[in-house]
Amino acid sequence: MTIASQSLTAELFAAAKEYLVPTYAPSIALVRGEGARVWDTEGREYLDFLAGIAVCSAGHCHPKIVEAIRRQAGILMHCSNVYLIPGQVEAARRLTRLCFGEQVFFTNSGAEAIEGAFKLARRFQWKSGHPERTALVAAQNSFHGRTYGAITATGTPKYHEGFGPMLPNVRHVPFNDLAAWEAELAKGDVAACVVEPVQGEGGIRPAAEGFLRGLRDACDRAGALLIFDEIQCGLGRTGKDFAHQHWGVTPDIMTLAKALGGGFPVGAFVTKKRIAEVLTPGLHATTFGGNPLAMAAVNAFLELLEEERLSERAADLGMTLRGMLREALDGLPAVKEIRGLGLMFGIELTGPAKPVQLACQERGLLVSSTAETVVRLVPPLVIDERDCARAVTILKEVIAAPAA
Ligand SMILES: *Cc1c(COP(=O)(O)O)cnc(C)c1O
Repeated sequence: MTIASQSLTAELFAAAKEYLVPTYAPSIALVRGEGARVWDTEGREYLDFLAGIAVCSAGHCHPKIVEAIRRQAGILMHCSNVYLIPGQVEAARRLTRLCFGEQVFFTNSGAEAIEGAFKLARRFQWKSGHPERTALVAAQNSFHGRTYGAITATGTPKYHEGFGPMLPNVRHVPFNDLAAWEAELAKGDVAACVVEPVQGEGGIRPAAEGFLRGLRDACDRAGALLIFDEIQCGLGRTGKDFAHQHWGVTPDIMTLAKALGGGFPVGAFVTKKRIAEVLTPGLHATTFGGNPLAMAAVNAFLELLEEERLSERAADLGMTLRGMLREALDGLPAVKEIRGLGLMFGIELTGPAKPVQLACQERGLLVSSTAETVVRLVPPLVIDERDCARAVTILKEVIAAPAA
């Protein structure tokens, strides 16, 4: 299905330049998706190993998600949290069955889930008789989103430049350096530590063995809460329902978004009752968060996660893809390291990853580049072995080429 001719595409890009705030610099426009494939305005097909940045885990336009959204749109789209939304109860029950959590607050995005988690942590400490515990400790090289609290916590200086001042009392320490986190916690003023069990934007870096366990214990000794940001690594992506389950360490609060709505914009923070209870009526709110339409999407996705055993699929296919990547790329001079967990891979190069991303796109494969030198692969969890083989063939062609 060709949506537009080349000249119409050129017109579209010219108009985008005219009317859109230039925060992105895209070179193709996607107009349709199905499973692990998407099509651009000229009818070109791509194998999608980015999945809307780890969002479309059930594949594009999964019939079950499409049907749930269509149906709900014709029943009740929005009504405000002033009224109880039955779909929220169902979604929260499903989520809490899968993890440590007992109660859930739904948001519209990942950054909002992070903001809510930070507010909850500070309010919990204040309410528990520790108003001095207001500091947030986050990892260097982390990513938590683009709102003020979230960029402050994001331990990547380029995101702060020219946007200051940042939120007060947020400190950064090296990811995986337990002693550095213990030293911060020993200062006695920490409300919460926040960490991605697998750093996403930072270049697909899983927590080192023992780090999360040690951090959990140190937080408990200091009375600080532990927040896991599973916005990118959660919900089956790493081969378990939640990434922290690989290490058997549970947080006090977990943030989710990306895959949660199967492509519909929605996020959440999940926590324990004894912590959640400090957010009594009026203390935190959202107009859109958790609305009936979003909840229809979340419930459809969570049903698929269980029915289609997406986490196990990610674990199995992750092993297959890892083997293929190793065989094709190990030893190439441009490749420094292949890292990942489940279907979340980073191929660290010796040079910039952006040209590889663009060359793959030219050959019909969508991947992303992150942390300057890392090619990120986060395909839909419903891909098959043939898709993996095809992607690896293209990656090899591109990365082995002299220009890469
Ligand atoms: C994407 C992401 C966010 C921000 O989510 P948005 O929906 O873009 O606000 C936060 N944390 C992590 C780990 C992410 O990958």
